[in-house]
Amino acid sequence: MAHLKKERTLVVIKPDGVQRSLIGEIIQRYERLGLKLVAMKMTVPTEEHVEAHYTVDPEWFRKTGTKTIEGYKAKGLTPPTEDPVALARGVLNNLKKYLTKSPVVAMVWEGAHAVELVRKLTGGTEPLKSDVGTIRGDYVLDSYQMSDTDGRAVRNLVHASGTPDEAAKEISLWFLPDEIVNYRLVGERILYDVNLDGLLE
Ligand code: GDP
Ligand code: MG
Repeated sequence: MAHLKKERTLVVIKPDGVQRSLIGEIIQRYERLGLKLVAMKMTVPTEEHVEAHYTVDPEWFRKTGTKTIEGYKAKGLTPPTEDPVALARGVLNNLKKYLTKSPVVAMVWEGAHAVELVRKLTGGTEPLKSDVGTIRGDYVLDSYQMSDTDGRAVRNLVHASGTPDEAAKEISLWFLPDEIVNYRLVGERILYDVNLDGLLE
């Protein structure tokens, strides 16, 4: 099995992140933690690509629909439908409109616990509830209440893979194998090497 330091995750800076000139700020958050950028491209996704991206998990419709219905009920609101799949279809349509309207920046980040750490730095899905100190908590103010009322996707700046398995599938959807670079950063020694001999002069 590959060493933990080889774990990879996909991050996509969504149109609002690009348009608000937050590319550098977002990259810096992952970079300063010690993760290594191993692939990056700017692209304008097609609707087909957005659909493929969100449905790499065949359970996405059921899970997202169920979560969204529970969210409505937790706020004492009536969901527009009790059918999770129909509801998630609407969420996906809004995501297609959102993600195809501007370039996005797709990246692969590598390092120990990359998936979990990137999710931690990125913060919870709904910016209104994301923790202070996270990207979604610090740089944007959107809410499901506002985005649902206006009939659009919630603007939360970044996509980050949820699990290592999801990450592997998403990375292969966004990048060809030879677009991902295997290389070492000098700073990795201090993060991972067991033996720190050779530093003292
Ligand atoms: P993420 O991994 O944190 O981006 O969240 P998910 O994978 O659960 O959801 C993917 C996308 O679906 C989010 O970025 C939102 O645009 C949308 N979404 C998820 N849950 C909800 C919800 O409860 N309400 C609404 N309106 N959209 C949602
Ligand atoms: Mg997700």
